[in-house]
Amino acid sequence: MRITDEVYVVGGGSTLGFGLSNAPDCHVYLIDGGEELALVDCGMAEGDSVDRIARNIEAEGLDLGRLRRLILTHYHMDHAGGAARFREQFGLDVLAPTGAVAALRTGDERAVALDVAKRAGYYAADYRFEPVEVDRELTEGDHVRLGNLQLEVYDTPGHCDGHASYLLVGRSRRYLFAGDAVFHGGRIVLQNIHDCSIQRSATSVEKLVGLDFETLLPGHGTIAVDNGPSHVRLAADAFNSLFVPKNLH
Ligand SMILES: [Zn+2]
Repeated sequence: MRITDEVYVVGGGSTLGFGLSNAPDCHVYLIDGGEELALVDCGMAEGDSVDRIARNIEAEGLDLGRLRRLILTHYHMDHAGGAARFREQFGLDVLAPTGAVAALRTGDERAVALDVAKRAGYYAADYRFEPVEVDRELTEGDHVRLGNLQLEVYDTPGHCDGHASYLLVGRSRRYLFAGDAVFHGGRIVLQNIHDCSIQRSATSVEKLVGLDFETLLPGHGTIAVDNGPSHVRLAADAFNSLFVPKNLH
């Protein structure tokens, strides 16, 4: 699904997504930087999800041979569970926030809250988190060149540790890949897990509200092609009133 000629949605389950791949995949975004393509998050690679995402990419007339990198926003399974499979199948370099790297490399199910998420029924009890090698660690202030486009890295913990958001400087507009830091309508996702923090979420939202962009591309739910910052502002206003913004769920 084409957002513009440089950003596409190529995957995502049907619960809070477009039914482009299998549940519970997050939105899987594709950036076309000209000489190379990059994915932002990849979902869980359960069932035929990888094939569906590959077919979606080709259906946009994009060459899978140009796919070079997978950039992760955080280590939750619906965003990164399939990273090892994507890395191997497409020969991708995996880029991830520094705080997420240890858990990704070891497949530590407690660190990524998979143990409690299984008990809560979000994932099958026999699901296993396949560790993935990370080729490049990303921290605040880093820049990633994607062909003729550039990505800026912002650390945005709160939803969980090791969470980053990415500002893409496109040819005619700027996009914020917010992961699960903030959503359309100023919603957030706070969960009863060990590394979720209201205060860190508020600090991250305050950081994002100051960025210059047009298009808000969150990890789930509605996308705002224009006026993206107005949605982040709603979350910031709630935090600034000392209340917590509404949860996405
Ligand atoms: Zn998450």
